[in-house]
Amino acid sequence: MSHCPFCEIIRGNLEASVIYEDHLVLAIVPLHAPYPESALIFPKEHIDHFTDLPKDLATHVMRVGFDLGKKIMQVYQPDRIGMGVHGYGVGHAHFNVFPQRHGMDVVFGKMAYVKDGEVKFGFRNLPVPSREKMDEVARKLRLEVNQ
Ligand SMILES: [Zn+2]
Repeated sequence: MSHCPFCEIIRGNLEASVIYEDHLVLAIVPLHAPYPESALIFPKEHIDHFTDLPKDLATHVMRVGFDLGKKIMQVYQPDRIGMGVHGYGVGHAHFNVFPQRHGMDVVFGKMAYVKDGEVKFGFRNLPVPSREKMDEVARKLRLEVNQ
């Protein structure tokens, strides 16, 4: 999978703000999220569908996400934490963890836009945080390696 951005991050060919890494997974600050204080956790092995992950690996990905959800809550104190797998975007299984400060955050209301008279959803209107901001978030959310 030479065009998979997550595999390129794992190989060190694409820049990312890393929050957590162990022998199975990597957690980074996502490029596109409703808020930059978010985390994206994915297995180091390229597997497209989340439901195709071995159960222990899926559990590990979600457990790291759970710990990062607690950390986001501690550090940034949002109203709620949202977590989910939506399956679109990058075709490499990933788990999203993000702060929620509004009821529409869970449906990514910020991703809605109108094109050709139709309401669509996508990343086009989400601002990409600066590398400095993403590095700061990664530093504040860093987990100890004892998963
Ligand atoms: Zn991949």
